Amino acid sequence: MLPPFRTEPFTDFSKPENEAAFRAALEKVKAEMGRSFPLVIGDRRLLLDQTFTSINPSRPSEVLGIFSKGDVSHADMAVATALEAFKTWQYTSVADRARYLLRAATELRRRKHEFSATMVLEVGKSWVEADADTAEAIDFMEYYARQAMRVADSSHLLVPNPGEQVGLYYIPLGVGIVIPPWNFPLAIPTGMLTAALVAGNAVILKPAQPSPWVAWKLCELFWNQGLPPGVLNFVSGPGSSTGAQMVAHPKTRFIAFTGSRDVGLNIFEQASKVPPGQIWLKRTILEMGGKDAVVVDETADLEAAAQGIVAGAFGFQGQKCSAGSRAIIVGDVYDQVANRVVDLTRKLQIGAPDIGPHIDMGPVVNLDSMQKIMGYIEVGTQEGELLLGGSPVETAEGGYFLPPTIFGDVTSNARIAQEEIFGPVLALMRARDYDDALDIANGTEYGLTGAVYSHDRARLEQARREFHVGNLYLNRKCTGALVGIHPFGGFNMSGTDSKTGGPDYLLLYTQAKSVAERL
Ligand code: NAP
Ligand code: MG
Repeated sequence: MLPPFRTEPFTDFSKPENEAAFRAALEKVKAEMGRSFPLVIGDRRLLLDQTFTSINPSRPSEVLGIFSKGDVSHADMAVATALEAFKTWQYTSVADRARYLLRAATELRRRKHEFSATMVLEVGKSWVEADADTAEAIDFMEYYARQAMRVADSSHLLVPNPGEQVGLYYIPLGVGIVIPPWNFPLAIPTGMLTAALVAGNAVILKPAQPSPWVAWKLCELFWNQGLPPGVLNFVSGPGSSTGAQMVAHPKTRFIAFTGSRDVGLNIFEQASKVPPGQIWLKRTILEMGGKDAVVVDETADLEAAAQGIVAGAFGFQGQKCSAGSRAIIVGDVYDQVANRVVDLTRKLQIGAPDIGPHIDMGPVVNLDSMQKIMGYIEVGTQEGELLLGGSPVETAEGGYFLPPTIFGDVTSNARIAQEEIFGPVLALMRARDYDDALDIANGTEYGLTGAVYSHDRARLEQARREFHVGNLYLNRKCTGALVGIHPFGGFNMSGTDSKTGGPDYLLLYTQAKSVAERL
């Protein structure tokens, strides 16, 4: 029997020993910079001539790793290899499969700061954000290991039938493609990967191009546990060609994707096609974007609300699907909250996060992202009043730094109030009253997270009923979901609401088989 699941505690960086340990991890990871990484397909390690680099967005000339650029032929090879490995992996016992996850969790806990430091360098996470990402990855391993053992044989849930022995077994699907985004570059691939593996599937991981290094370290962690070759394959390369080929392949049984709305929709469409030789309907688990809102009414603790708005909007530079990119404030308290939000935001420290734990905001992930966000800031200046930020922060090393940017008096149909910007841009919106605020909050095509700050019981209950989001938070910020505590996933264009870290998540990676034997 395993001890009950508990979330991994976060690191307190105000303790000198923790700060020292994290600095040592940064040094260790920096000493590993610049290596070349192969594709790993079964027991083959393919170092290709075609490559792409992973860079540090704080100092773009710093090359962290050189990665092989897998093409469609490698996608095909990986599917064939995984299919072969699946033949035996599917019949390994669930307890054995769960043990791989538990051993990986132990090893990750031991090397926690090394993984977090990798994310500080590769995607510009602050120490606190990186530490939370690693903690979440550990949580997924521990949680899905337990869940697999609980659901695999669900025969006890059936009604007995005299004269028959009945069983209900959640068996694996087959070969799955795991396609994560770069913004939780450890936790998200870990979640999708571990659920797929522990359920008995064989997997190909196609990391996001900005964050292959931490994805590689994750796979290596599993290979080091002695996972049979071909059960977990690593194929780095462009999503639009190599990833798309794996999605379309007739032997692919399921796709676990987390990323943007547009790519999610494309995968949904491609996966619905049935090419010759395909004898199933592909399962798609698609978690997509958000345009999340924080609602504040006149009864709320306004200081708590302002702090929650700032943390939700600017944590990891606003590059979270759960980021509160809209703050909807009822008219009576709008000015007061807006002023306080601007004051608190001014205090945020921007810089290369490897400098130290005092850096609140690092760079955005790459030049494309920076340009896209700057495009929205342009749009924002037409649509609202620029209260803070707006122009890039120049650094000697040319890092992709944008300041926290706040627009006031943004209207509900403005583009910056409707479209996911995925950067440090907050729209403040004035509502007539609470009902109007909820209408505005629900007035996008997304439905991922939302928060309400109010001390009015009836209004909190109304939000429970009417605020149509997968993750609703009352009197707290809209980011920071914990595994096992806040099952995560959104409605509408935010995806298929898979509820990662929730009690039913693993079932998505299985199919149920009912067996009855006449006695
Ligand atoms: P993205 O651009 O959609 O990319 C996600 C993944 O899809 C990457 O690995 C990408 O590979 C791959 N990809 C791109 N085109 C593909 C295609 N045609 N077929 C198959 N795969 C393809 O998203 P991102 O920029 O990495 O991440 C940010 C987005 O993720 C935001 O919209 C955010 O809201 C969302 N997100 C959602 C959640 C959630 O739980 N709902 C959590 C985190 C993030 P390349 O990198 O090689 O292009
Ligand atoms: Mg992208």
